[in-house]
Amino acid sequence: MLSYGLSASSIKEKIIKREISAQEVVEDLFERIRIKDDLVKAYLYLDKEGALLKAKEIDEKLSSGGQLGILAGIPVAIKDNICTSGMKTTCASRILENFIPPYDAFVVKRMKEEDAIIIGKTNLDEFAMGSSNENSAFQITRNPWNTDCIPGGSGGGSAAAVTADMAFMALGSDTGGSVRQPSAICGNVGCKPTYGRVSRYGLVAFASSLDQIGSITKDVYDAALLLQVVSGHDGCDSTSANVAVPDYLAGIDSINDNLKIGVPKEFFGDGLNQEIKNSVTNALEIYKNNGAELVDLSLPHCGYAVATYYIIATAEASSNLARYDGVRYGHRSQLSEDNIIDMYSRVRAEGFGSEVKRRILLGNYVLSAGFYEAYYLKASKVRNLIKSDFEEAFKKVDCIISPTCPSPAFKIGEKTTDPLEMYLSDIYTIPANLVGIPGISIPCGFTATGLPIGMQIMGKHFEEKKILKIAKFFENETDFHLKKPELR
Ligand code: GLN
Repeated sequence: MLSYGLSASSIKEKIIKREISAQEVVEDLFERIRIKDDLVKAYLYLDKEGALLKAKEIDEKLSSGGQLGILAGIPVAIKDNICTSGMKTTCASRILENFIPPYDAFVVKRMKEEDAIIIGKTNLDEFAMGSSNENSAFQITRNPWNTDCIPGGSGGGSAAAVTADMAFMALGSDTGGSVRQPSAICGNVGCKPTYGRVSRYGLVAFASSLDQIGSITKDVYDAALLLQVVSGHDGCDSTSANVAVPDYLAGIDSINDNLKIGVPKEFFGDGLNQEIKNSVTNALEIYKNNGAELVDLSLPHCGYAVATYYIIATAEASSNLARYDGVRYGHRSQLSEDNIIDMYSRVRAEGFGSEVKRRILLGNYVLSAGFYEAYYLKASKVRNLIKSDFEEAFKKVDCIISPTCPSPAFKIGEKTTDPLEMYLSDIYTIPANLVGIPGISIPCGFTATGLPIGMQIMGKHFEEKKILKIAKFFENETDFHLKKPELR
């Protein structure tokens, strides 16, 4: 196929040089989706007509010598918890099954302005709560590397679409790892920027102090390209940071000579799969052999990160999800009720899946009178301790490297009966959300059974540029990111 296996920036080059038209790229892509997505099930919604229309506009602009944006002609997928005007945004939940937003999220608006082609909306765990995609109310996405396995979550649809060449890049959201974890599990580059770097306007809120929009791409260059477009201050998000956005692509192939890499012992201990440990250790050796200094670190409070997260995230979720009452929008029960309280109860009982209900119950519990101090307040204090661990560490090092996940893709159904086991999938990604720092996951190996392995690089607040360069250095030295699954 014409565009198979190409990165987003290379397809853009071809379109601009007129070696291929944007319309051909879209046709080609939809043909792959037709062949593969019955099995992979990455998409919840596709807009071929809209995509072709936009492609035509781009081709016409090109012929008339018009100015094109920096994502010109690149077909992109959007996680279905990010609002797209006129296109369904369901959060993979029955409660929002027919919700069509009247506006675009900030990030979608920016991508459109830069001439990206939005092709559809990808599957996720309901309201982005999960690590496997099995919590979607509609379908389970499969991992293109082994279709018996999960693609990770909650952004598994976006990750699987990029891996199977059914999108050239995708947007996700990362509250506890939902961009980085599926990227690692599907062999992509997943970048979660600093909290505040990218506007959350139009992202359906899960846990507002942790949520951040990020990118899922085939390589680091594309991550920098997409980040360039979506970063920056937005008055519609009160937590959006007014911090200058550097040129992420300038000098991306250079890293500083005396790079210091922190290696935290808490991220390499019990529970880490041996093949992942070996791959990340080998990756660290590559840096070392090229002059970097590896610095042993301890982040002593990270052992409490998962527990802290499941208090703070559920507390915020219980409040954010209170708005789904069947009155203003979303699912409305067909059964008539005598009073409004029963109506709310029925709407929510029918509309939410069991994991979402579990989070709402937990969240209300940790916020309730008598328990608030013991849980929510305590968790907020522990969060500060984790922040200080990282502050101390970053006095000594430029970045911190760890595995992205403790295990590679697991079988569909393997962890559904044990929520705690599932929660541990994010043990290495959650700290960055609690602290608000950027993290990027890049491919660094494969298991003996051929499943991708990801390595995480974390940096100081607003130092995305630095970690992108460090990631790019590794990518230039290796070819893990170029491998493709058999599925064609
Ligand atoms: N897996 C984590 C959770 O279920 C993280 C989700 C996310 O980042 N959206 O909460």
